[in-house]
Amino acid sequence: MKLRKVTAASAAVLALALSATACGSDDKDDAGSGSSGGGTIKVGIKYDQPGLGLKEPDGSFSGFDVDVATYVAKELGYDADKIEFVETKSADRENAIARGDVKFIAATYSINDERKEKVNFAGPYLLAHQDLLVKTDSDITKGTDLNGKKLCSVTGSTSAQNVKEEIAPKAQLKEYGGYSECIAALQSGAVDAVTTDDSILAGFAAQDKYKGQFKLAGLKLSNENYGIGVKKDDTATTDKINAALTKMVSDGSWQKAVDANFGPAGYKNEPAPKIGDIVS
Ligand code: GLU
Repeated sequence: MKLRKVTAASAAVLALALSATACGSDDKDDAGSGSSGGGTIKVGIKYDQPGLGLKEPDGSFSGFDVDVATYVAKELGYDADKIEFVETKSADRENAIARGDVKFIAATYSINDERKEKVNFAGPYLLAHQDLLVKTDSDITKGTDLNGKKLCSVTGSTSAQNVKEEIAPKAQLKEYGGYSECIAALQSGAVDAVTTDDSILAGFAAQDKYKGQFKLAGLKLSNENYGIGVKKDDTATTDKINAALTKMVSDGSWQKAVDANFGPAGYKNEPAPKIGDIVS
């Protein structure tokens, strides 16, 4: 009897400990509820896209997506020092959200119907277009020139999908994990072109180490409406992020982020989209 009592007591202690742990992770899950209860918020970004989402050598982060994410997090109740950035590569984004690894993703993430089956999107907050990056002396000028050529894009991206389905089904498409790997392949001559959003390609082309080596073809091969990925059916967070994005545009912070991040690359972006206004 006594033994049973002890056991019950230990069970109670254990239950308490477990619920304390659960509370800890709940805090994380609740990130974005708007309360700034001293917790942190995990946000998915790219780590290798200059001007959009870049992890700098000193460990800090820069880019338009980083600025958008920072503004949104602030509106959700999290100061910049409470943000934990997590790398979400193109192919990992839906799973990272579904698993709850991150509260939201701002990572050149185009809104489309296939993805909408798995995640909610706030936005759009930027309209980009698929383009090609080639060496300065390349004679590739249009999508169909790619047929039979070696082309690089990234697994899980709309860019790779568009090439296979429409732009150049006969191109020899190599799919890597990130665009920085594609750019290295272009520089070494392993591929003839890299394709993805013009916003991303402009950022790479403007890097000091690549200056004068590459050119954008200037083709608007698709419309890429960037959204913020949120857990499927989390309407409350999606609505809050939409409100944050609307405010970011109206108070001038969106334009400031554009000038700071796209200005140096000379990227001529489209005007701020209206929330819910998807250009197909
Ligand atoms: N915006 C496109 C996409 O979401 C291409 C860029 C990327 O892979 O992040 O797939």
